[in-house]
Amino acid sequence: MPYDLIVVGGGVTGAGVARDAALRGLKTALVERGEPGGGATRTSTHLIHGGVRYLLYDRLTTHATCRDSGHIVRTAGDLLTRLPIVWPVYRGHARGLETVETLFEEYDRFQPMKYGRPHLRLTPEATLRLIPGLKAEGLRGALAFDEWWVDAERLAARTLDSAKAAGAEVFLHAPVEAVLRDGARAVGVRAGGRELRARLVVNAAGPWVDKVARLAGANLPLRLMKGTHLIWKDPKRVPVGLLLEAADRERYVFVIPSPLGTWVGPTDLPGPADPDEARTSDEEIQYLLDSVRRYFADWPRIPDATIVGSRPILGQPGAEKLLSRDFEVFDHEARDGVSGLLTIGGGKMSDYRVMAEAAVDAACLKLGISARGTTQNFTLDGRPVGPVPGWTPPSPALKNFLKTRPRLRELHALAHLGGALAGHLARRAAGRCPARDEDAFRERYA
Ligand SMILES: Cc1cc2nc3c(=O)[nH]c(=O)nc-3n(C[C@H](O)[C@H](O)[C@H](O)COP(=O)(O)OP(=O)(O)OC[C@H]3O[C@@H](n4cnc5c(N)ncnc54)[C@H](O)[C@@H]3O)c2cc1C
Repeated sequence: MPYDLIVVGGGVTGAGVARDAALRGLKTALVERGEPGGGATRTSTHLIHGGVRYLLYDRLTTHATCRDSGHIVRTAGDLLTRLPIVWPVYRGHARGLETVETLFEEYDRFQPMKYGRPHLRLTPEATLRLIPGLKAEGLRGALAFDEWWVDAERLAARTLDSAKAAGAEVFLHAPVEAVLRDGARAVGVRAGGRELRARLVVNAAGPWVDKVARLAGANLPLRLMKGTHLIWKDPKRVPVGLLLEAADRERYVFVIPSPLGTWVGPTDLPGPADPDEARTSDEEIQYLLDSVRRYFADWPRIPDATIVGSRPILGQPGAEKLLSRDFEVFDHEARDGVSGLLTIGGGKMSDYRVMAEAAVDAACLKLGISARGTTQNFTLDGRPVGPVPGWTPPSPALKNFLKTRPRLRELHALAHLGGALAGHLARRAAGRCPARDEDAFRERYA
């Protein structure tokens, strides 16, 4: 057999799998139907983030995501830019200032893992001076925090370059048309007219994983949620990132200034089963416009472009919020009786490295190879990286217990937040959580 592993899909996840496998010495090929990162990776909000909002229902995901984001900062730092984000809070908002600040006080505990800085509480006056044009009426103040903006397509491309440097072969513009079978066993793929054979096929096709699995007679418990962004060409329509309570007052949308323009979004709606058929609707455009124009009366009504993509969501209807950002490695031998095929599904870009590691761990187990993952030890161009910032891993017993109990996970998160809110209110009453002015903000993000 020419390859140990064939990876299907050259988004961040597939690129990460190929890199990890090649660095472990596996003979690896990757097939991608287009260009690296041209799928969900390209349509994402482009944030390497720790998942502050998961603190509301899944604290362990925030922990894991912050940790892997930290690895991405260390290994792909030249593709990342620190992005300060301001969350303005108005009278009548569903979440008030004290609740939001409590969330960020908690997030501060995780931020060092991803080289993030502690939050700042801003006065309304400072917020308005920092963000010209922001609506003043009803503004009670704001919280500022930071995430990383990433050039997502280059992250996929550079991860692939790193895989190639470690020996992987990459075939672009090579759509998988068939999974080759020998009885119940997947033994390779036909892609772009080529037949490639391997001991194991790893399906890392993002929102297309179900389509690819079906080529092998397998399937996945996947639902697709589509997400649209509106784009204005001006890269700095706002001087900082914003997180805004959306027009429906339930969700939040980002406003992200970036070299690709100013992006507003995303939406998060049930999408078609085929990601190639996802389209932006007029309602989505109106929703995002209403969301941003709630805060900026003179925001232009016509975006220069729109972009839509699909999130691959694992799990059952009704448990979306709780399960939606999990990832899982599926062994189709156990699930569907098709051996030689693994799928890595779900997850997000911010933990693409650990997703890839989990997929290659599972592949090595299947192949009887004991090599361990080393992707966290080298930059994408092969230089060794320094030590990881200190972190306390969550107890494995707690992790295992909560893994299959989403409702308890939510209670676990809420119990932490309840305690934190009590502590915050006591400090606030004692005058120990002062709101700061824009100089403090500029000093932090100079
Ligand atoms: C609107 C939106 C916003 C998001 N924002 C963020 C964010 O800010 N931060 C974050 O961490 N995550 C975010 N995500 C999630 C993130 O984008 C995805 O988790 C991640 O990009 C998935 O990468 P992937 O490689 O698994 O999938 P993809 O990037 O979709 O890659 C899959 C690849 O498979 C290829 N492919 C498909 N079929 C075949 C075939 N038959 N043969 C060969 N190749 C094939 C496709 O061309 C594609 O390149 C967002 C997602 C969406 C939709």
